[in-house]
Amino acid sequence: MIIEKLLLQVLIVLSPVLVYSVISNGKKELKFPFLMVFYAIAGVLCIVFSYQTFGLYWDLRYVIVVCAFLYGGMKTGWLVFATVMITRTIMGGDHLVFAYVCIASAAITVYFFRVKYQTVLSKWGKTLFTIVLSLVPVVVQVSIVSVLIRDDILLILDQSVLARYLFYYVTVIMIAAGFITLLHEAINEKKRMQEEIIRAEKFNTLAGLAASIAHEVRNPLTVVKGFLQLMKEEKKDSNQQYYSLVLSELGRAENIINDYLSFAKPELKSVEDVKLLENIHEILALLHPYAIKDGVHLNELIEISDHLLVRVDRNQLKQALVNFVKNAIEATPNGGNVTLVVQKSSDLVTIHISDTGKGMNKEELSRIGTLFYTTKDKGTGLGTMVSIRIIEAMRGTVSYQSKEFVGTTVSISLPIRRDETSSIHTFKDKNKQVI
Ligand code: ADP
Ligand code: MG
Repeated sequence: MIIEKLLLQVLIVLSPVLVYSVISNGKKELKFPFLMVFYAIAGVLCIVFSYQTFGLYWDLRYVIVVCAFLYGGMKTGWLVFATVMITRTIMGGDHLVFAYVCIASAAITVYFFRVKYQTVLSKWGKTLFTIVLSLVPVVVQVSIVSVLIRDDILLILDQSVLARYLFYYVTVIMIAAGFITLLHEAINEKKRMQEEIIRAEKFNTLAGLAASIAHEVRNPLTVVKGFLQLMKEEKKDSNQQYYSLVLSELGRAENIINDYLSFAKPELKSVEDVKLLENIHEILALLHPYAIKDGVHLNELIEISDHLLVRVDRNQLKQALVNFVKNAIEATPNGGNVTLVVQKSSDLVTIHISDTGKGMNKEELSRIGTLFYTTKDKGTGLGTMVSIRIIEAMRGTVSYQSKEFVGTTVSISLPIRRDETSSIHTFKDKNKQVI
């Protein structure tokens, strides 16, 4: 009987992390403190469904308290601790103070060891650590029980049965604490992997852009070098006319490098109000050399004001849009067009990235955005997946329309944060310049 009850307890203890893993699904942060609520509910259930015999409650509340501190943080830990205490008080019974002492010993132990816990890196080390932390209150409990038995406060006739129960109890606590740690570590590992994929894809994009940017920077430098040589040969001070040219070419080189560096900069993750237009201009400037290299015209048709704000992570939005535009350029043959149309509709702003490229058939379209799907020799098949994930994290949507051999349009919609002035309308060909 005790075994069945304890197994039910294992299920209760594991349920917070299992449900949380489904809900979080690798997301970095959730708005609602799900873990806190799930652990608190599990704490209540543990006590409500505990096995009562010898005047004692047999349940896994300590595991809940310990793991709430370790994986939910201080706030979650103390809230779950309070919930467990209150529930235990409501349940009543003879040895309430004894119960308080044991639960408090769990909370205090984990409170003091939580920093040390973070320094353990391997998941097996952490598993062992959680098991030990969960057993500390059991040791306290057993010590108190033996004192109570010695002083005849607790009357237990068959002590061998008590010993057997204790053995089951400790074993089940160890199993539950071990499993719960492994599950939490698996969730954390998944989150880390997803961040790693986003980073890796960014470096891949950077490497791809580097060649075209180096090429673009070389052009103004060649011009500057040429003029400097001219000036040196003439040795007269009639070179005023060249100075402005030299300076403007140097400025161009500087801008290209600045754009590249601003994209390459390691980012501080922060969600803020961003002027979308500014962001788009930076992206276009960054990809301009890349389009020139492939002989593709990069056009823009912008129908939003420069005051339109979206609430996003500036760098991640840039990364996502660069991926989409880069894919469009890569799909387009020499002489083709890639056009960015930015439009506003009530509370959404939509960026359409159209290309006159090779397009995709139904089968290809259904596979886009899935992990490692690529048709390029040096492709990673990560760009689209990462970009869609980034946009969706910003509460935006991405949709594709494509016709084979005609072209593709990717539409990215984002919720507008604020837009103060009326819209302006400009059209220009960013890529008229030929080298
Ligand atoms: P990668 O660019 O490394 O191949 P992505 O995830 O960015 O990986 O893209 C996956 C695949 O989707 C590309 O290899 C390409 O076949 C297809 N694709 C993406 N965008 C377009 C587009 N605009 N036109 C045609 N095909 C595209
Ligand atoms: Mg790509």
